[in-house]
Amino acid sequence: MDDFIIRGISLHGEVTVDAAVSGGKWVAVSESLGAGYGDEIDGAGKILLPGVIDAHVHFNEPGRTDWEGIATGSAALAAGGGTAFFDMPLNSSPPVLNASGVLEKRRLGEEKSQTDFGIWGGLTPDSLGTMEEMADEGVVAFKAFMCGSGLEEFGMAGRKVLAEGMKIAAKRGIVVGVHAEDESVVSRFMPTGASTSIAEGMRQWFASRPVEVELAAIRIAIDLAGEAGAKLHVVHVTHPECLDLISKGRAEGVDVTAETCPHYLLLNTESGAMIGPAAKCAPPLRDKGVVEALWAALDQVETIGSDHSPSPPDMKTGGDVFAMWGGIAGCQNGIELACGLALEKGISLEGLSRKWRTNVFRRFGVDGAGIEVGADADFFLLEKGYGVIESGEQRSRHRFSPYVGMERGWRVSGTWLRGEPVTAKTRGRFLRPAK
Ligand SMILES: [Zn+2]
Repeated sequence: MDDFIIRGISLHGEVTVDAAVSGGKWVAVSESLGAGYGDEIDGAGKILLPGVIDAHVHFNEPGRTDWEGIATGSAALAAGGGTAFFDMPLNSSPPVLNASGVLEKRRLGEEKSQTDFGIWGGLTPDSLGTMEEMADEGVVAFKAFMCGSGLEEFGMAGRKVLAEGMKIAAKRGIVVGVHAEDESVVSRFMPTGASTSIAEGMRQWFASRPVEVELAAIRIAIDLAGEAGAKLHVVHVTHPECLDLISKGRAEGVDVTAETCPHYLLLNTESGAMIGPAAKCAPPLRDKGVVEALWAALDQVETIGSDHSPSPPDMKTGGDVFAMWGGIAGCQNGIELACGLALEKGISLEGLSRKWRTNVFRRFGVDGAGIEVGADADFFLLEKGYGVIESGEQRSRHRFSPYVGMERGWRVSGTWLRGEPVTAKTRGRFLRPAK
């Protein structure tokens, strides 16, 4: 491992520094450093940002590597600035519902992942008796669905199961992440007529899951977390009204935080209808005005995760949008696009980057830090890169993403893990909550 120094780089897009790395760690970050730090890298015109910990991906291994897989998923993540991911318990097959599921996924991650990784366990009607053993094996959090997950083997957590699971998680001090959409409310908004086009079908999909569906579930989850004393993290929040509800819960003493995803900041119902099935997800995209309001309410968001959830392209085709797989492949381009837009809006990248790095470490209880002396040199560089995002540059198995075809102002030019550029040969480490 060579020592090196990046000269004249813009830290977080805010202040020009020299930043030196030795033994895989930051050893000096300062306005101007002298000689003797090893290889020289010219950072002029580039922005230095801390590596992304994407706390929400579905790489689907074992069992559904035809959808993605750890090798291609982690390669896509690293191409987008990622140095670690926390993998959801679904849609691997079997899903992670017990200790052997954690151990098997850990083994595969250590064999194939180009970045560090952590593992979510499932909180379902089938796992209440095995949550403790998953905690023993180091899961970073438990995931529960408050509506159907789309997969039979990962059951919905109704009120009773969620309450019970939260108590177990609280005892172990582990976060519970909920997919907050209320099944009983979803059914109220289902469209009656068939759609005449894909764009129309997409609009019907957006209308079928309005914010009321999220709000109803978040209310229940906050109440249950308050009763259980659990740490609640509401994943993929789409709307400022949800953030207000979560902030209110926190003000009332519940340990509740929110995650949002780049696609809720970058896409809307108009662009999503034009993009088509690549932009189908749940909760769905929101109207332009809501997206702007979400940007304005970002200080209420604790973490940003991609919810990268690809499928084979043939699960995104046909005439019926409701029957297609819902999931966005976004772990490669989401952060660079969000950074570009934030720079246009005059929003601090330092603040934004906390949501994918230090806030993630803190919320999930995993050790780690941002760009500071003594911390691991996990980082990426952004460079001005006008031009269209191409399918051919995608590292995801199916090279299929709602961002393909979009113009970008900035692009990730390289990602380093513990001071080494991430390549196909890089292997990451298993991350778990600190004791
Ligand atoms: Zn997800």
